[in-house]
Amino acid sequence: MEMETNNKANSRRKFIQNGVRLSLLLSLGTVSAAALKRVTTDDYVWQIDPFKCTQCGRCATDCVMTPSAVKCLHAFDLCGYCDLCGGYLKPDANQQSTAAENQLCPTAAIERRFIEEPYFEYHIDKDLCIGCSKCVKGCTSFGNGSMHLQIMHDICLNCNECSIARVCPSDAISRVKASKPYMVKGSFTSIPQTVNEEKA
Ligand code: SF4
Ligand code: SF4
Ligand code: SF4
Repeated sequence: MEMETNNKANSRRKFIQNGVRLSLLLSLGTVSAAALKRVTTDDYVWQIDPFKCTQCGRCATDCVMTPSAVKCLHAFDLCGYCDLCGGYLKPDANQQSTAAENQLCPTAAIERRFIEEPYFEYHIDKDLCIGCSKCVKGCTSFGNGSMHLQIMHDICLNCNECSIARVCPSDAISRVKASKPYMVKGSFTSIPQTVNEEKA
């Protein structure tokens, strides 16, 4: 009986993950199409290597755009769907409560959705996200590191010299080919997105 319940939970989770995967694919696909206008004259765009980023916070403060062109993305296939999410709750939060004062995100950009016991799903509202990396730090320290930062190419001006790259203490920002403009964690790493391939 217990095994049957687990199987149901696993297949439900798989179903949800596949749905989310598709929606992130579509969302990045849209971004790529929008970004196309800006990058056709350039072979390279700026991007963050999420494995090098040390979540210093400068992505929020040093971009020429306000709010920053850097946003948090969530690799759902890496996420543990935890109730006590290190990217959502402050470390000193009353862990029984997800009241606003317990949330790490300063702009309430993370929405927590109940899936089924004991799983919760965390969605980032990119319009509210300022790229402060607080959730990324929490998720990386106490979770699976599924939350991570990326430069969004529908917002980024593709400056000759990225002002964040200049100050990034871990040298995490570099030029990448415009045909593969994202360095997304998880299984999406292989997806990004073909700005030029789509055009071809
Ligand atoms: S400046 Fe570099 S280390 Fe700091 S949050 Fe941005 S990418 Fe990460
Ligand atoms: S904590 Fe910072 S990086 Fe994370 S979603 Fe909120 S604003 Fe964005
Ligand atoms: S290239 Fe310019 S607009 Fe893009 S992330 Fe860097 S500073 Fe911001």
